[in-house]
Amino acid sequence: MRILLIEDERKISAYVKRGLEESGYAVDPVYTGREGLDWAESAPYDVIILDILLPEMDGLSVCRELRKRGDRTLVLMLTARDTVDDRVAGLDAGADDYLVKPFAIKELYARLRAITRRAGEAPKSTVMEFADLTLDTRSHQVRRAGRVIELAAKEYSVLECLLREPERVLTRTQIAEHVWNYDTYNQSNVVDVYIRNLRRKIDDAFEHKIIHTVRGAGYRLSLDEMD
Ligand code: CA
Repeated sequence: MRILLIEDERKISAYVKRGLEESGYAVDPVYTGREGLDWAESAPYDVIILDILLPEMDGLSVCRELRKRGDRTLVLMLTARDTVDDRVAGLDAGADDYLVKPFAIKELYARLRAITRRAGEAPKSTVMEFADLTLDTRSHQVRRAGRVIELAAKEYSVLECLLREPERVLTRTQIAEHVWNYDTYNQSNVVDVYIRNLRRKIDDAFEHKIIHTVRGAGYRLSLDEMD
């Protein structure tokens, strides 16, 4: 999952970025409302984490502007005060949920899981499945044929991206845009490297391969033998 983080307080921004990256999320941090609007247009973010108090343009205005533009990206609003007025204002502006500062990273994960699940971007259960492969978005545990497979954070994210749309061919750019932030994702063969690692861990020991290369296009999860 790739996240746009619009938060001007550097300490909080760094805390959230580090926390989310440890779990394999890709995070682009920006520090003003205007910047946030520009970035939101530039990439297909899964979630926008949006602080209310921001320089230049506050979070409520940013959210209203996004919705006016027809941008339906999930928005998680950060608010400094837990008052009914603040919450209502956020939801009225088009936010999908809110989180009151200060918060623990664990709470943020839970909220992110909840809004993506509600939006139908992830299955109702926390477990995604394809053939004999399962991925639990809560525990981050991956199993194939019941056997636990240890994955690095980014390997996990690439697999999650493929699992969201099994059988569909995803281009390297589509995968990269959801797994890496702007700073990293232009580095050419990064997707191929991670796919190679995933294959080693997920396919090598099994007769039926599920990660397939579609020449000239990208990758897809499938049980069809096609490469
Ligand atoms: Ca702020």
